[in-house]
Amino acid sequence: MTTPVYQNFINGQFLANQSGETFALKNPATDEVIYHVEVADGFIQNAAIKSAKQGFVIWSAMTPIERSRILLKAVTLLRARNDELAKIEVLDTGKPWQEAECVDVQTGADVIEYFAGLAPAQVGQQQMAGEDFYYTRKEPLGICAGIGAWNYPLQIACWKSGPALAAGNALIFKPSEETPLSAIKLAEIFTEAGLPAGVFNVVQGAAAVGQWLTQSPDIEKISFTGEVGTGKKVVASAASSLKAVTMELGGKSPLLVFDDADVSQAVSAAMLGNFYTQGEICTNCTRIYVHKNVYQQFIDELKTRTEQNIIPGDPLDPKVNFGALISKNHQDLVMRYIEIGIAEGATLLTGGKALNPASAPNGYFVAPTVFIDCSDDMTIVKEEIFGPVMSVLVFDDEDDVIRRANDTHVGLAAGVFTQDIKRAHRVIHQLQAGICWINSYGNSPAEMPVGGYKQSGIGRENGIETLDHYTQTKSIYVGMSNIESPF
Ligand code: NAD
Repeated sequence: MTTPVYQNFINGQFLANQSGETFALKNPATDEVIYHVEVADGFIQNAAIKSAKQGFVIWSAMTPIERSRILLKAVTLLRARNDELAKIEVLDTGKPWQEAECVDVQTGADVIEYFAGLAPAQVGQQQMAGEDFYYTRKEPLGICAGIGAWNYPLQIACWKSGPALAAGNALIFKPSEETPLSAIKLAEIFTEAGLPAGVFNVVQGAAAVGQWLTQSPDIEKISFTGEVGTGKKVVASAASSLKAVTMELGGKSPLLVFDDADVSQAVSAAMLGNFYTQGEICTNCTRIYVHKNVYQQFIDELKTRTEQNIIPGDPLDPKVNFGALISKNHQDLVMRYIEIGIAEGATLLTGGKALNPASAPNGYFVAPTVFIDCSDDMTIVKEEIFGPVMSVLVFDDEDDVIRRANDTHVGLAAGVFTQDIKRAHRVIHQLQAGICWINSYGNSPAEMPVGGYKQSGIGRENGIETLDHYTQTKSIYVGMSNIESPF
């Protein structure tokens, strides 16, 4: 059977590359090639810049209300095609249908809708200076680039295109080479909604195409989602042309469970924050610090619910709630971390092995895994694994657990479970993380800014402030009086 070959999406349409180079895409749940994608060669790259320049001229000249209307139409189309798009995400990522069907498309559409609404609300200032005065304009940056990770491919494409386009920029987006398809579908939807050609282009490929985006002197800003190590390379490369950067990177986030917490709720949060999307979520609370007084209760319930309630299998089956990891390489990497955890002395409470569920025997599954008897210096407690591997640690002193929670170079997210309202806020204010939850974990509405402290990132996505990151302020001084000059 022949599989489809997808081209790059440039200037409002598909465009064939000249090198003929393609890459294959496998379904992580079946290990089968499902389609091929053309790599963005030099010809495509030049065409992307040319079309983005042309698109920017048209788009930036439109009024914010006009731009908003087109984006809102795209939102309607995204929601109408929810199931078609969700299925693409399931086949590309291996995540369960029951998640993609209600989260991936909707959280992407929400953010475009939010920024479409904000676009006309962005205004400048005016101030008198004697008889003279000045005013400011919020102008778009020009051509921006987005580089995406593979865990929430469509959501990431929406989270980057929403504010970029609402502010009047053109965007060249490179999805992860592991999940290239949904960004093309988004491009088709934007085109159908009336977005002028060239305003949203999709280029395909791996690191080399990403590097080209970071180096191109025609691109004003890079918004990147991916690993800390890649983020550092992107920032270094973007510095060569002094591009603005937004960095959404990895984490190793702590969840603190105090002895007055609702333990069942805390177990729910810990499971969501480690096993949802089979553990491939940047904000995951992979370090769970449990107060010694509720430790036994916590791990007893955690073990029971993990072993009884998690259903791995064919991700398209609506009953399945635990999918396959993105690739064989990633499965091997996660398994290596599990071996290191055992070798360094942690105890497996449950899991710790690869899985071959009957309905998806060739998929890249790793069992939901919980380590206990962990210490802060273990590799599994220090490094991001990006798989379903939770480390549980014990504490008995508030100040000490805050110090331990903060003892890391990353600071993406953090959570606290306690019934004591004063302690909840006191503790969360001391945690060095950009995205925090009290008696909750993982929710992220479009209005809420998200991003990391320390090496977890630069800048924010979502929320009002993000629009500012896609504009630049022009100050215009208007002389109403005669110029005073010594010359
Ligand atoms: P990755 O860093 O390997 O790749 C991310 C993207 O960068 C891909 O599109 C890749 O092709 C591209 N790339 C690779 N090398 C590049 C280079 N030198 N220059 C430019 N682009 C390059 O990350 P991944 O494995 O795709 O994603 C998993 C990581 O993403 C995890 O660390 C996770 O925590 C992080 N993540 C963060 C957030 C967030 O919002 N903070 C969200 C999702 C994922």
